[in-house]
Amino acid sequence: MPGWGQKGQERLAGARVFLAGVGGLGCAAGVYLATAGVGRMDVCDADAVERSNLNRQFLYTPRDVGRPKAELARDRLAALNPSIEVSALVTEIDHATAPELIAGADIVLDCLDNLETRFALNRACIAARVPMVYAAAADWTGYLSFLKPPETPCLECFVTRTPPPVEPAIPGCTPGTLGALQAMEALKYLTGIGNVFAGKLLVMDGAEPRFDVVAVDRDPSCAACSKLKAK
Ligand SMILES: [Zn+2]
Repeated sequence: MPGWGQKGQERLAGARVFLAGVGGLGCAAGVYLATAGVGRMDVCDADAVERSNLNRQFLYTPRDVGRPKAELARDRLAALNPSIEVSALVTEIDHATAPELIAGADIVLDCLDNLETRFALNRACIAARVPMVYAAAADWTGYLSFLKPPETPCLECFVTRTPPPVEPAIPGCTPGTLGALQAMEALKYLTGIGNVFAGKLLVMDGAEPRFDVVAVDRDPSCAACSKLKAK
């Protein structure tokens, strides 16, 4: 593939990705990152598998109900590609834990399901100057953006209100699509191929169907990133 080659593969082998959440988004993103050969993945999720997860969280089976997602995801992603290293972190992400959890990561994938945790991750990524790939999915709709302030907005620049309650009815293909796109963003960033969704928000309405890309700007009064200056 143009631009990938041995050099791109070596870059991936030397890369470290922090996967925040292994639900519907994280299962899809994790599979494509593992099979692409990302050398190290830290998989973080405090939750256990529930039966209602199984329509979209395809790393798990009915026999896994009650077991920690992070440990199951670690084992299954490592089995897909024995040449990579996958670690499991069965812990909550919050303002206190996020900085240490993401330390050393080249890129962070926001595969979470609630805004409070996303904001904690966003703040830690800003402080560490690590890019974060945001995605969110509900029913047939989804959002995606590549966040690396000060070159782009951060999450708090354009997501300001609480979204609908978590655990909406959702067909597995919606987070699967968005999770695959998150992996695509990470692979482009890590190999240096193509362009990421920087300063752009993908808005998917799968029911319509419509895929729109809208510009998103930094908020000069953003509480999270407005003090950040370009290097
Ligand atoms: Zn901001």
